[in-house]
Amino acid sequence: MSAAREGGCACGAVRYRLTSDPLFTNCCHCLNCQRQTGSAFVINLLIEADRVELLAGAPQPVDVPRDDGSKQRIFRCPTCQVAVFSQYGRPEVRFVRGGTLDQPSGVAPDVHIFTRSKLSWITLPDSVPAFEVYYDIKALWPAASLERLEAIMAPANSDA
Ligand SMILES: [Zn+2]
Ligand SMILES: [Zn+2]
Repeated sequence: MSAAREGGCACGAVRYRLTSDPLFTNCCHCLNCQRQTGSAFVINLLIEADRVELLAGAPQPVDVPRDDGSKQRIFRCPTCQVAVFSQYGRPEVRFVRGGTLDQPSGVAPDVHIFTRSKLSWITLPDSVPAFEVYYDIKALWPAASLERLEAIMAPANSDA
């Protein structure tokens, strides 16, 4: 997806560039994502936070309640309020919203999750793994992505 790695909000105040391919791309059909997007699902490119290079603007964090009582931090353009990425728990990983890429067709889901609440009129391809809820990333992610994840999750005080 090298040529398709830039994106931004609707008004152009926020522009970003992904400095590598994502770790993995989730298509989430959960009720939280449906409500947040006002649509059927969200396409999240999971990538290290330091690989999301901001070219313009400063996305503003908004804490949004989820059904389980937790909060999800969604980063929005301060001007047009379009959500460009979000963060669940760990700040080391960003979930970049695939539809904000300049070329959304440059990325396709590696997995479909929370299909238990998938809208019935959506038919998923047989070629992409799909799960009722979530999945074991160790079983599904490529080895290189698992290594990248391990690298950012390593304790900061470890010099080994
Ligand atoms: Zn904007
Ligand atoms: Zn979701």
